[in-house]
Amino acid sequence: MKIKVSDIPEEGLSVIDKTMVEINGQDVPVDLDLKVDKQGSEVLVEGNIGTGIDMVCNRCLTEFKQRIDVPVSLVYQPAEGFSGQSHELGMDELDTGFYREDELDLDAVAMEQIMLNMPIKSLCSEICKGICPHCGANLNEGSCSCPAGQSTGHGIRL
Ligand SMILES: [Zn+2]
Ligand SMILES: [Zn+2]
Repeated sequence: MKIKVSDIPEEGLSVIDKTMVEINGQDVPVDLDLKVDKQGSEVLVEGNIGTGIDMVCNRCLTEFKQRIDVPVSLVYQPAEGFSGQSHELGMDELDTGFYREDELDLDAVAMEQIMLNMPIKSLCSEICKGICPHCGANLNEGSCSCPAGQSTGHGIRL
Protein backbone atom coordinates (compact mmCIF):
# COMPACT_ATOMS: atom_id res chain seq x y z
CA MET A 1 0.00 0.00 0.00
CA LYS A 2 1.04 3.57 -0.63
CA ILE A 3 0.73 6.47 1.76
CA LYS A 4 0.41 10.09 0.78
CA VAL A 5 2.78 11.92 3.08
CA SER A 6 0.64 15.08 3.13
CA ASP A 7 -2.29 12.96 4.37
CA ILE A 8 -0.50 11.74 7.51
CA PRO A 9 -2.31 13.43 10.39
CA GLU A 10 -0.60 15.29 13.23
CA GLU A 11 -1.16 12.42 15.64
CA GLY A 12 0.31 9.86 13.25
CA LEU A 13 -1.19 7.00 11.34
CA SER A 14 -1.66 3.40 12.46
CA VAL A 15 -1.20 0.95 9.64
CA ILE A 16 -2.39 -2.57 10.37
CA ASP A 17 -2.65 -4.27 7.04
CA LYS A 18 -1.98 -7.41 5.07
CA THR A 19 -0.25 -7.11 1.77
CA MET A 20 1.59 -9.28 -0.77
CA VAL A 21 5.15 -8.65 -1.83
CA GLU A 22 7.51 -10.54 -4.12
CA ILE A 23 10.57 -12.04 -2.43
CA ASN A 24 12.98 -14.03 -4.61
CA GLY A 25 10.23 -14.72 -7.11
CA GLN A 26 7.74 -15.85 -4.45
CA ASP A 27 4.58 -13.92 -3.68
CA VAL A 28 4.50 -13.86 0.10
CA PRO A 29 1.83 -12.50 2.44
CA VAL A 30 3.10 -9.80 4.77
CA ASP A 31 1.56 -8.44 7.96
CA LEU A 32 2.18 -4.77 8.56
CA ASP A 33 1.78 -3.43 12.07
CA LEU A 34 3.21 0.04 11.84
CA LYS A 35 2.94 3.52 13.23
CA VAL A 36 3.69 6.24 10.70
CA ASP A 37 4.55 9.70 12.01
CA LYS A 38 5.52 12.90 10.29
CA GLN A 39 8.10 15.31 11.64
CA GLY A 40 8.45 18.22 9.28
CA SER A 41 9.26 16.61 5.95
CA GLU A 42 10.61 13.43 7.56
CA VAL A 43 8.46 10.33 7.89
CA LEU A 44 9.08 7.93 10.76
CA VAL A 45 8.00 4.31 10.39
CA GLU A 46 8.03 2.14 13.49
CA GLY A 47 6.58 -1.23 14.32
CA ASN A 48 6.77 -4.75 12.99
CA ILE A 49 6.84 -6.33 9.54
CA GLY A 50 6.12 -10.05 9.64
CA THR A 51 5.95 -12.80 7.06
CA GLY A 52 6.31 -16.52 6.48
CA ILE A 53 8.45 -17.66 3.56
CA ASP A 54 8.68 -21.13 2.06
CA MET A 55 12.27 -22.30 2.37
CA VAL A 56 14.18 -25.55 1.99
CA CYS A 57 16.13 -26.82 4.99
CA ASN A 58 19.89 -26.84 4.31
CA ARG A 59 20.30 -30.09 6.27
CA CYS A 60 17.33 -32.33 5.49
CA LEU A 61 16.03 -30.65 2.29
CA THR A 62 12.49 -30.52 3.65
CA GLU A 63 10.33 -27.53 2.74
CA PHE A 64 9.18 -25.52 5.67
CA LYS A 65 7.72 -22.13 6.48
CA GLN A 66 10.29 -19.73 7.88
CA ARG A 67 8.70 -17.09 10.08
CA ILE A 68 10.42 -13.72 9.78
CA ASP A 69 9.56 -10.80 12.02
CA VAL A 70 11.39 -7.54 11.50
CA PRO A 71 11.08 -4.83 14.13
CA VAL A 72 11.58 -1.58 12.26
CA SER A 73 12.46 1.97 13.14
CA LEU A 74 13.03 3.84 9.92
CA VAL A 75 13.26 7.41 8.74
CA TYR A 76 12.24 8.53 5.26
CA GLN A 77 13.15 11.88 3.76
CA PRO A 78 11.95 13.53 0.59
CA ALA A 79 14.33 12.58 -2.22
CA GLU A 80 13.73 15.93 -3.89
CA GLY A 81 15.27 17.90 -1.05
CA PHE A 82 18.66 16.29 -1.43
CA SER A 83 19.65 17.37 -4.92
CA GLY A 84 20.85 20.83 -3.91
CA GLN A 85 22.56 19.91 -0.65
CA SER A 86 26.28 19.79 -0.19
CA HIS A 87 26.63 16.77 2.05
CA GLU A 88 26.66 13.29 0.61
CA LEU A 89 24.86 10.43 2.25
CA GLY A 90 27.21 8.09 4.04
CA MET A 91 26.87 4.34 3.84
CA ASP A 92 26.18 4.24 7.56
CA GLU A 93 22.82 5.90 7.10
CA LEU A 94 21.20 2.61 6.21
CA ASP A 95 18.07 3.25 8.22
CA THR A 96 17.32 6.38 6.26
CA GLY A 97 15.38 6.00 3.07
CA PHE A 98 13.68 8.32 0.66
CA TYR A 99 10.20 8.92 -0.57
CA ARG A 100 9.31 10.65 -3.81
CA GLU A 101 6.56 13.01 -4.80
CA ASP A 102 4.70 12.92 -1.49
CA GLU A 103 4.32 9.15 -1.62
CA LEU A 104 5.75 6.42 0.60
CA ASP A 105 5.29 2.88 -0.69
CA LEU A 106 4.95 0.59 2.34
CA ASP A 107 5.04 -2.54 0.17
CA ALA A 108 8.50 -1.52 -1.05
CA VAL A 109 9.53 -0.81 2.54
CA ALA A 110 8.31 -4.25 3.62
CA MET A 111 10.06 -6.00 0.73
CA GLU A 112 13.35 -4.25 1.43
CA GLN A 113 13.24 -4.98 5.16
CA ILE A 114 12.42 -8.65 4.66
CA MET A 115 15.21 -9.07 2.10
CA LEU A 116 17.67 -7.47 4.52
CA ASN A 117 16.62 -9.83 7.29
CA MET A 118 16.45 -13.12 5.41
CA PRO A 119 18.40 -15.79 7.27
CA ILE A 120 21.57 -16.86 5.46
CA LYS A 121 21.21 -20.45 6.62
CA SER A 122 17.79 -21.98 6.67
CA LEU A 123 17.15 -24.85 9.06
CA CYS A 124 13.74 -26.38 9.67
CA SER A 125 14.81 -26.63 13.30
CA GLU A 126 17.94 -25.91 15.33
CA ILE A 127 18.11 -29.60 16.17
CA CYS A 128 17.50 -30.89 12.64
CA LYS A 129 19.38 -34.17 12.23
CA GLY A 130 19.72 -33.91 8.46
CA ILE A 131 19.72 -36.80 6.03
CA CYS A 132 21.74 -40.01 6.09
CA PRO A 133 24.68 -39.66 3.66
CA HIS A 134 24.35 -43.34 2.73
CA CYS A 135 20.67 -43.90 1.99
CA GLY A 136 19.27 -40.37 2.03
CA ALA A 137 16.73 -41.11 4.77
CA ASN A 138 15.47 -38.13 6.72
CA LEU A 139 16.91 -38.78 10.18
CA ASN A 140 14.29 -36.55 11.78
CA GLU A 141 11.76 -39.27 10.97
CA GLY A 142 13.74 -41.98 12.70
CA SER A 143 17.11 -43.64 12.22
CA CYS A 144 17.72 -45.67 9.09
CA SER A 145 19.11 -49.18 8.89
CA CYS A 146 22.57 -48.25 7.59
CA PRO A 147 25.34 -49.67 9.82
CA ALA A 148 27.05 -46.30 10.10
CA GLY A 149 23.87 -44.32 9.59
CA GLN A 150 23.90 -42.53 12.90
CA SER A 151 23.69 -38.79 12.64
CA THR A 152 26.66 -38.30 14.99
CA GLY A 153 29.84 -38.05 12.99
CA HIS A 154 28.33 -39.21 9.72
CA GLY A 155 25.40 -36.93 9.04
CA ILE A 156 25.64 -34.02 6.67
CA ARG A 157 26.02 -30.96 8.79
CA LEU A 158 26.23 -27.53 7.27
ZN1 LIG B 1 15.82 -29.93 8.43
ZN1 LIG C 1 20.97 -44.53 5.96
